[in-house]
Amino acid sequence: MSRYSWQRFSSFYRFNPSPRTFQKRDLASRSETLNEVMPAGSLKTYRKKRNLQHTPEPKGDGKKAGEKKPIFVIQKHAARQLHYDFRLQVRRALKSWAVPKGPSLNPSDKRMAAEVEDHPLGYAKFEGVIPKGEYGAGTVMVWDKGTYRNVTKKDNKKVPITKALKRGHVAVWLNGKKIKGGYALSRIAKGKKPRWLLVKMKDEKADARRKPTKSETKSALTGRTMQKIEKEEE
Ligand code: MN
Repeated sequence: MSRYSWQRFSSFYRFNPSPRTFQKRDLASRSETLNEVMPAGSLKTYRKKRNLQHTPEPKGDGKKAGEKKPIFVIQKHAARQLHYDFRLQVRRALKSWAVPKGPSLNPSDKRMAAEVEDHPLGYAKFEGVIPKGEYGAGTVMVWDKGTYRNVTKKDNKKVPITKALKRGHVAVWLNGKKIKGGYALSRIAKGKKPRWLLVKMKDEKADARRKPTKSETKSALTGRTMQKIEKEEE
């Protein structure tokens, strides 16, 4: 393919990423083209695990994020085992951890956080019910949301978020509705299922008495309880 037609081809698909189009005009470079349309980051696992025709979860084909502050979201997820999914925007994906007990405001609590697959950016707005039989079946609530700042430092120098994640030491300042202040994420086990600890940093937002996962049970997005989401979405 000449350089000129390749450019036309790729820009065509960038704006017409429908699977039908791919079938009709299949080419040897199909996988390359798919990579072009796919958001940056690794949403492959996310898509592989779900049948996106059978679940209301986002497909992950959202538009490019602007230059705005990165977002974070904490989703309360009543799957087989209740947990809180803690997600940080890194470019166009959400780095994700499943935290069984959710975040604490007490700096002496160490909350286990199991690293899970990246989710598409649009997932931050997902609240609803994943149908029975589907991956992660159960009710999902946007328990908290807001923006965050990467405050990771090493030797008094700022560390970019991608590097911090790779190294396994991340510090973020959260600016949510329920959760504010510094949190440290430290990887304690590598491998196929990396494990981290999520710990509140000692700052003016720390509060050993407040237990937001117990006392604040409504959606930061819609004000609904888990029961109401379940009732309305099923
Ligand atoms: Mn989950």
